Amino acid sequence: MPVLLAVSSGYVEIVPTREERRAENEAIFRAGNERIVHNRETSSTDVTSSTLPLICECGSADCMDTIELTRAEYEAVRQNKAHFAIEPGHQDKDEIVVDEFDRYAIVEKTGKGLSVVD
Ligand SMILES: [Zn+2]
Repeated sequence: MPVLLAVSSGYVEIVPTREERRAENEAIFRAGNERIVHNRETSSTDVTSSTLPLICECGSADCMDTIELTRAEYEAVRQNKAHFAIEPGHQDKDEIVVDEFDRYAIVEKTGKGLSVVD
């Protein structure tokens, strides 16, 4: 839940918790990745075997790592709304690694942050 903070000027500011901020970042990265996947879908004739440079969805504000997934691999991750594709080792304490490969890992988000996704 948001933290209500009374500030000196008299109005109340809503400060997202760390988990919410992280989940928001993940949602933003995910939206960007979906655009990458969608754009390639219409412009490339060989979408099944070529990998796409996607943004690591670990949700850390200062992580700008890219991971390489094929469109099919990314769509497999997206089958579950709680699943994210990240650079291996980037999982947070509230994320469970469900699968790990050379190029990327799949984590399942648990706990408070999940409600912000979607
Ligand atoms: Zn990352």
